[in-house]
Formats: sequence, structure tokens, C-alpha cells
Amino acid sequence: MGNLCYNAGMSENHDQRPQLDAERMALARARARENRRLIPLDLGLSAGYFVLWWLLVHEPLIRWLDTTLASFTPRLLVYVGLFGLGAVVVDLPLEAYRYRRAVHYGLSVQSWREWFVDVLKGLVVGAILGGILVLVLYYFLQHYPATWWLWMGLVYLLFTVILAQLAPVLIMPLFLKFTPYEEDELSARLRSLAGEAGTQVRGVFRTNLSSKTTAANAWLSGLGRTRRIVLGDTLLEHYTPDEIVSVFAHELGHHVHRDIWHSIVLATLVNLAGFAVAGVLMRWAVGRYGFAGPGDLRAFPWLVVSLALFAFLTSPLLNAYSRGREWAADRYAYRHGPGARAFADALTRLTNQNLADPEPPRWQVFLFYSHPPALERIQSANQFAVSQSRTR
Ligand SMILES: [Zn+2]
Repeated sequence: MGNLCYNAGMSENHDQRPQLDAERMALARARARENRRLIPLDLGLSAGYFVLWWLLVHEPLIRWLDTTLASFTPRLLVYVGLFGLGAVVVDLPLEAYRYRRAVHYGLSVQSWREWFVDVLKGLVVGAILGGILVLVLYYFLQHYPATWWLWMGLVYLLFTVILAQLAPVLIMPLFLKFTPYEEDELSARLRSLAGEAGTQVRGVFRTNLSSKTTAANAWLSGLGRTRRIVLGDTLLEHYTPDEIVSVFAHELGHHVHRDIWHSIVLATLVNLAGFAVAGVLMRWAVGRYGFAGPGDLRAFPWLVVSLALFAFLTSPLLNAYSRGREWAADRYAYRHGPGARAFADALTRLTNQNLADPEPPRWQVFLFYSHPPALERIQSANQFAVSQSRTR
């Protein structure tokens, strides 16, 4: 704790290297405390909404739909659509508060209008994708009441693969602009790094993150022909070439390690288990309450409860896996980028700029963090840099 840690692992050379800024870190900690206080509120709102829906809305709505709409599909879409819309509306004040706090901390640069347009776009995308999934789910629930969970596991795999392929060209451009990264000295370095890794990165793109935030970021997305590394303009404009190349090397590490494929396979197995557990619970609920079958809309809350609980309980597992993949991509960047020191410097700048909590509590990391805490990553990169400089 305290300022001393910020220099832990730093080597002899203190000259021009970026340091964690004490003022920024105090802000980051204040922001992290605020966000932690919102966690129980957020969970409570979701749980409260669900319970109220089940007790007050579920039965009357189904009775009304039974008398108003003749066939099942429109009844299903109206029921699930209202349920989803209600969940979004209940969550909206909290989201608006989060957005205002991000403006307060100088992270978000969006106006109310721009923020709300993004919310609406998200809602439309979610409604289309969710609608397709619900239709497929109920098809299997009604036609294969005993083995629906197995089919849904396979559908989920197919759906994620298609979505991973389409997202960079169909969904992300709804929110951000992507332009091929212009030819310059830096792009030549990035290409040669990819060449050394024996891989062809099909595209390196620049995106206008600065239209939304002051935070910097970079990521790998897509599959097959849409596979690409995306660098935010907020990164490209404020970092040294070595730092940018080292961030690129981290993303390249994900690519070389085939992390997108691995996470799809793991998520599919976890989801298959989740559907199987839901299948057992649904069978019990059908017997206990006399529903027509698992595809009976009256059994919908049971389906939601079992899938949501399973997702909540297994998300620490998926996060732990993701943190492991991040460590591996970091180590790739130490070895194949311009050195671990440049990577540590990039992480230090990112932590200052993005107001990342340098040392979140263990429980929060365990439950919610897909990436290792900032300070651990910086220290580990600096330690590696020391050993690199010794062996050179
Ligand atoms: Zn990463």
C-alpha cells in the first residue's frame, strides 16, 4: 500500500520513465470505492425486479396473452420482450448515474444525447440477438423437451462463432469508426512483429475511442477473415512508439495463443453444463407445478433463475481463465515486443490515464476481474525487465 509500492520492482533507471501518479491513483481509488458500493445495489435491483415480475406480472400477463394472441410465437416474443425491456428500464437510472460519474472523473466525453443514443443502439442490437436466441431456445424446448439442453449447447457454439465473426464488421461499427491503420514507420514495425510471430494479422485498425472517452485501449477481435487488432486513437496519440508496439505485442500474444477460439470452447462447455443444470431443474418444476413441458411460458421464471444463477456462479471460473490468458499475453509482450520495460511503461500510462484501480480487493478480482490488477501487471513486467537487462 501507499506510494512506496509504486516504485516496487523498478530498476536502476528512473530518468524518463512514466510513474504511477499519486493524484491520479487517489482518484482511481475513490472511483473504485464508489463502484464497489454500487455492486450490491445493482444485484439487488436485478433480483428485486425478477421477484416482482414473478409475483405480480408473470401470471396476469400470460393470462392476458392467452386471450389476446392466437399463436405461441407472438405470445412468446411479447412476453420475453416486455421482460427484457423492463429489466433495461429498471437498470437505466443506475447506468445514467455511472455515466455521470464517468463524466465527473473526466473519463467519458459523451453528451447525454450521445450516451442515450448508444444505450438505444445497444437495446436494438440486444433485442435482435436476444429475439433470435429465444426463438431457437423455445423451438428446442417444445420439440425436444428431454434433450433441448444439448441442442442449445451446440446452438450456443454456432451462435458465438458467427457473432465473433460478424461483430467487428456489423456491430462494433454501430458504435465506433474503424479505419485501416495508415502506412507509416510504426505500421511497418507492427507488421514485422506479426511476421516474426509467423502469423498474418489481416487488419490493423485505428478507432475513434476519443469520441467517447479519454481512456486508452486496444483489443483483438474477429475470427477468420474479420480477425483484426484495433488500436484506439487515445493510445496512438499519447504513447511512445515502443509503448504502442508493446501493447500491440500483447494483442498479438492473444492471437498467437488462439485465445478467442479457446475462450469460445470453454464458454461453450460451461454453457452446456448450465443448460444441463437448467434441464434438470425444469424437469423438476414441470413435475411439481404441472406445466405443459419445459417450453410452457409459465415455466419461464424457472428457466431464468437456473440460467442466471449458473452464470453468476461460474463467472469467477471464466474470469480466472481470462486472467490466466492475460498473463500469458503479457509474457508474450515482454519477450517479443520492444522489451518488458516498454510494456511496463505502457501499463503505467494506461493505469494513470484510465483511472484503473491499482490494487482492487481480492474478492472483487475473484468475482469480476477479467484482467489481473494493474499494479501486479506493472510489477511483474518490471521484474521481468530487470532479468532481461541482466541476461543481455
Ligand atoms: Zn489482453
